[in-house]
Amino acid sequence: MATLQLDNIIKDFGSTRVLKGIDLEVKDREFVVFVGPSGCGKSTLLRTIAGLESASSGDIKINGQRVNEIGPAERGLAMVFQSYALYPHMSVEDNMGFSLRLAKVPRAERREKIRAAARILQLEELLDRKPRALSGGQRQRVAIGRAIVRNPSIFLFDEPLSNLDAALRVQMRIELTRLHHELNATMIYVTHDQVEAMTMADKIVVLQGGSVEQIGSPMELYHHPRNRFVAGFIGSPK
Ligand code: ADP
Ligand code: MG
Repeated sequence: MATLQLDNIIKDFGSTRVLKGIDLEVKDREFVVFVGPSGCGKSTLLRTIAGLESASSGDIKINGQRVNEIGPAERGLAMVFQSYALYPHMSVEDNMGFSLRLAKVPRAERREKIRAAARILQLEELLDRKPRALSGGQRQRVAIGRAIVRNPSIFLFDEPLSNLDAALRVQMRIELTRLHHELNATMIYVTHDQVEAMTMADKIVVLQGGSVEQIGSPMELYHHPRNRFVAGFIGSPK
């Protein structure tokens, strides 16, 4: 069970207001996509949810509990970055198990969790490899595996597919949707790609200039865009 609630989240960097009062409710097991043009505040919002940035004001609640003062490690979330951020000198297995080792999870339990994640992600044959011996798609799977082993209540993805070529992006989109069902997890997914948003989301949050333009299902946004911006953004091809 994992729900998220944002109440009037404001984030200032110096004198610049980057998030201008964001309200949002994410239900248990929902796949929510933040979409909007570059610079509209998607990553900042995700990082604020993760606890990597602190909100200037407003409340963040996970499962009804206020988490504003709680750091990233305690929030029960796991974030997957665009850049993968794998350790180049470590094997796939060690990359996937690194956070568990830090948390002093015993070796046998670590192995079991890594194997289970590797099975889901089709990485079983690659556990001994170093990241440089993997394709882009495989690296991205390892980055996702690193999140899965922690058994997070909420997954946070920041444009995880934007470094992949078009064919692989389509394949990974399908795999992430499958993963969402298989793990029964709540997922928040950032992209500037309208097609990803339309095909993956239960609920889309359209952002512009640090504010929410509209929240709705893909079909609601497509058929009933609130304004020209949403219509143009959801309607127009990439
Ligand atoms: P997006 O992910 O939608 O492209 P970001 O959240 O990265 O947008 O950035 C939103 C705005 O906040 C941009 O104008 C960016 O320059 C600014 N910004 C992001 N991080 C910082 C920071 N650490 N310090 C100052 N400004 C920042
Ligand atoms: Mg970003």
